[in-house]
Amino acid sequence: MNTSVYLDNAATTRISDTVLEGMSVYLKESYGNPSSLYALGRDAERAITKARERVAAALNCLPQEIYFTGSGSESNNWAIRQCTVDSGQGTVITSEFEHHAVLHVLGNNTILLPVYDNGLVSPEDLEKALSENPYVKLVTIMFANNEIGTVQPISEIGEICKKYNVLFHTDAVQAVGNIPIDVKSMNIDMLSLSGHKIHAMKGVGALYVNSRLRLPPLILGGAQENNRRAGTENVAGIVGLGIAIEEAVADMEQKNAELLKKRERIYNEVMKIERVRLNGELQRRLANNLNFSFEGIEGEALLLQLDLKGISASSGSACTSGSLDPSHVLLALGLPHEIAHGSLRITLSKYTTDNEIDYFLQQLPPIIEKLRALSPVWENIKREEAQ
Ligand SMILES: *Cc1c(COP(=O)(O)O)cnc(C)c1O
Repeated sequence: MNTSVYLDNAATTRISDTVLEGMSVYLKESYGNPSSLYALGRDAERAITKARERVAAALNCLPQEIYFTGSGSESNNWAIRQCTVDSGQGTVITSEFEHHAVLHVLGNNTILLPVYDNGLVSPEDLEKALSENPYVKLVTIMFANNEIGTVQPISEIGEICKKYNVLFHTDAVQAVGNIPIDVKSMNIDMLSLSGHKIHAMKGVGALYVNSRLRLPPLILGGAQENNRRAGTENVAGIVGLGIAIEEAVADMEQKNAELLKKRERIYNEVMKIERVRLNGELQRRLANNLNFSFEGIEGEALLLQLDLKGISASSGSACTSGSLDPSHVLLALGLPHEIAHGSLRITLSKYTTDNEIDYFLQQLPPIIEKLRALSPVWENIKREEAQ
């Protein structure tokens, strides 16, 4: 039997059947260029309009405030670069544990807020930074963290940004469809989202931009997206994103209730293992996320062993990217290097079954035991314990 258990939904998700069906029309039948004047083009244009309305409804904004992009990363780059970096104006406040598509865009005029071991940014720290720095133009704080799933106090942050009259952007790629979002009541000026994290396809995203802002385009050379994002639209991808976000918002409550039950079962079982910790607090957290550190274990070795059993999961250590540095997110929480190295991220989706969870829970403990038996670090821990 070829077991395949996918527990890495923060990395990407399986496309939903309704999304795929909805998209296929715009690949095979209504495949016209939305800029063309004839009927085939007008069909495609109408489909984009519909998708824009669906995304706007999910965020409580106007359709003309939604711009489709090629990814969540592009949305982040666009918002931050065109708001501050290229104009060379103003300081940006962000947090230590943002996605790299935020951190790598920022220039020298950046203030990094700390993240505490609960995995949260503190509104008091933001208020203090704003009161001490008069030239802040933009605050960018992620809605939910992609590694540890902690949900930031976005309404409070939005309130503070409004009080100090600075712009507020949030990378909501992990939050959209999982947490209720209202950009107006939360005082969010710009918000990034991505299709492939919510059961749409890879290579499509969106940026919400409050209509009172005039954000210059990042990609030039065409009149698409109201002159703000050049390039023939990814019509099928956009249609799929519209369907996916509508579905996610409609299912949210029921889906989260089911995910929480599954998550609790995993949490209770995994915490029985010796010398394991949960990274980030359990309460203010996405219903599908758990992130553990196992002492005396290398995250990469753990992933390989799980893979041999057909289980796909993720680790905070970045050895695959050619560096031995552990994740900047886990280090931001204050974890020592050796503990950050032994992390395991489990992220569920609405497709995750109880059988898959049973299988994972059955496979994990013997793998941990086997790896620890080979680990000099673990041997030291045990020796110290014995003394
Ligand atoms: C996945 C992710 C991104 C990047 O989105 P892409 O569409 O893959 O470029 C950005 N931010 C967060 C928090 C993410 O999880």
